[in-house]
Amino acid sequence: MTTEEGVVSKCPICGNSTNLSFMKDSYEIYKCSSCDFLFVSPYPSNNDIIAYYNNNYRGIDINFYPKARSRQRRAFLKSFRFWRYLFRKHTIDVGCGGGFMTNAFRRLGADAHGMDISEISIVYARNRFPDCTFHCESFTSMAKNDLIFDFIFTTEVLEHIRGTREFMEMIVSISRPGTIIYLATPDAGHESVPNDMSSWEDICPPAHIQWFNQSNMALLFDNYGFKLVRTFTKKTPALSMLFQRMDE
Ligand SMILES: [Zn+2]
Repeated sequence: MTTEEGVVSKCPICGNSTNLSFMKDSYEIYKCSSCDFLFVSPYPSNNDIIAYYNNNYRGIDINFYPKARSRQRRAFLKSFRFWRYLFRKHTIDVGCGGGFMTNAFRRLGADAHGMDISEISIVYARNRFPDCTFHCESFTSMAKNDLIFDFIFTTEVLEHIRGTREFMEMIVSISRPGTIIYLATPDAGHESVPNDMSSWEDICPPAHIQWFNQSNMALLFDNYGFKLVRTFTKKTPALSMLFQRMDE
């Protein structure tokens, strides 16, 4: 449960009670007593989050994206892992930034869409990759479009957003039974995360404001009718998981 002010009274994933776990840079980090979900409370406001990504975030400009050439090359190499979900499929990269992955999906035969809340990134993406479709929308407004995708890709998004409800409701509304979703986000349950959690470099509010582990992520998707297909093992503390929406 999240109020307008961003105060979280119950765990957004499992509904159990939460307790102050530690502080980092004057932000209070709470932890669920049951599923170990970690989050900043109060969450920054949505307006603060949008302002953060539109205010020279990572040096992005409508005509310039840092390391664009290597991003494009890495996106193309990475996209091969997902080829079976791409050819002649409707795909979307949620949190697409400059559109590099979206374009890589298009090159492998997808009807490729990307969405991001950063206007600067979307203007850049539209200019650079005119054969893809880009949406500058919130989760709530995207959910109202009549678009259904076969494959949803979302990396480096879940750690930046407030809670899970608006994101998951959008995922449900843009998917159908059988839709595959791939996600990546930091893994707070990874063996390489320091015991003193506050010293973990991925605890960096207000850039990151919540942290998952394998089991609470699986629980979250199960709550919305998605089954876990595969968890990819990583040497670094990154969750990398594939889900599929079950039949109604
Ligand atoms: Zn919980």
